[in-house]
Amino acid sequence: SKPSYKWRRVLLKVSGEALAGDQKQNIDPKITMAIAREVASVTRLGIEVAIVVGGGNIFRGSSWAGCSGLDRSSADYIGMLATVMNAIFLQATMESIGIPTRVQTAFRMSEVAEPYIRRRAVRHLEKGRVVIFAAGTGNAFFTTDTAAALRSAEIYDDDPRRNPNARLLETLTYHDVTSKELSVMDMTAITLCQENNIPVVVFNLNKPGNISKAIRGERVGTFIGG
Ligand code: UDP
Repeated sequence: SKPSYKWRRVLLKVSGEALAGDQKQNIDPKITMAIAREVASVTRLGIEVAIVVGGGNIFRGSSWAGCSGLDRSSADYIGMLATVMNAIFLQATMESIGIPTRVQTAFRMSEVAEPYIRRRAVRHLEKGRVVIFAAGTGNAFFTTDTAAALRSAEIYDDDPRRNPNARLLETLTYHDVTSKELSVMDMTAITLCQENNIPVVVFNLNKPGNISKAIRGERVGTFIGG
């Protein structure tokens, strides 16, 4: 019989910092390739994978706002554009090893990517394509962690192939994260996950094997739920 995994559909949040590694360049192609290979290994198992990319390796709105008259909203729009650069890089890398991938942006840039359309995103996932969501939420003052929580809530599939044997190393409740103000992800994002019962796994994606383990629902990192 077909092996079962903890989740049928997973959203992977890739922060900008993770893409840079310790390189001087904004993106380390060895890292994007490693991510692509791990994602390929799980899509081959039939697990549907969506990705939200950050942009902090190129531009972070909050750290530029106020410099030379740059207002926060403008700075955040630049930050959102940075996520699109990462998304296109990641898409090209994934397609170079044969993973069909679509980029959907939170605001229109129709010459380079599809606009975000929920039903279309879900259709791509069902067809085994990886969907990369770029440009965050499309709104200033938010983060890509929140975009990840939001997109997860929208594409959430409440019919997981439950595997009762899947257990994770360390477990926290949403309340642990919010009350102790643990900095694993921002408060807006964790609250959104809590309200929609979206399980979260926080792990180091630069450690080989971790991405595929997390997606298969195996022991890695910290599990946040219930
Ligand atoms: N951003 C935004 N709205 C969003 C998502 C991102 O304004 O919904 C901007 C914000 O300026 C942020 C930048 O894009 O600093 C890059 O995203 P983020 O800092 O979340 O990336 P990461 O920390 O994952 O690299």
